[in-house]
Amino acid sequence: MRKLTAKERVRRDLRRLFRCMDQVAKHPALARFGRSALSGMLGEIYQQLGLAWEFLGLQCRHWDGFRRTRKGVLACPICGKVKDAAEAWLLLPRDGRKQIGRMRLPRGKAMFPNKQTATIVSDAIDFHGAALRVDVTEQHKSSILGRAINIAEDRVVRLAERGIECWVDSSLVHLRLVPRSGKDARRWTGAMVWELPRKRLRQLPVLVDFDGRGRFAGLCVFSSRPRTKRES
Ligand SMILES: [Zn+2]
Repeated sequence: MRKLTAKERVRRDLRRLFRCMDQVAKHPALARFGRSALSGMLGEIYQQLGLAWEFLGLQCRHWDGFRRTRKGVLACPICGKVKDAAEAWLLLPRDGRKQIGRMRLPRGKAMFPNKQTATIVSDAIDFHGAALRVDVTEQHKSSILGRAINIAEDRVVRLAERGIECWVDSSLVHLRLVPRSGKDARRWTGAMVWELPRKRLRQLPVLVDFDGRGRFAGLCVFSSRPRTKRES
């Protein structure tokens, strides 16, 4: 027998579920006047089937797009999800590529009154022990120490792995090997590479990559931390 595609399987399972829901909803015990033990149980079964619908619907990729229903809303003809309706859950395949959301960038046109309204994405995931955070915001107004300032639109991606953080935004890529915290935080400083004396340069475990035309292409930092030990 031919193996069903994901679309065929989801559609078949949802149709079965909808038939069950119809059977329960049309049961004569519900039409009778007054409450009975049976009607209460049928109501409970209907609720549970609704829960199954919610979770089965998460497998639907809305393969046929959205169509206008009799009520005038755009909905998926397979699972019945209304277009752009918020979903409380995500479903990811155990094997293979996992995808959450899509690449979002600020449009950078309008100025928003505060960060809350300017936020497009603010989400984080802990993935097998590595922490990933994505923040996308439109330009907005903010106040620091009572002074109103304008914050430019940006997309900031941060990856943290065993105390090392990599920060990528639209103007810089920042790698931090030691967390900037505690009393020492104020004494931190930065310098361009050419400003450092050769003696200091020799102590830096940094390799600079260049392409065939001599253009800066990458940076490699040799970390002296024990990489293979289990850390709590
Ligand atoms: Zn669907």
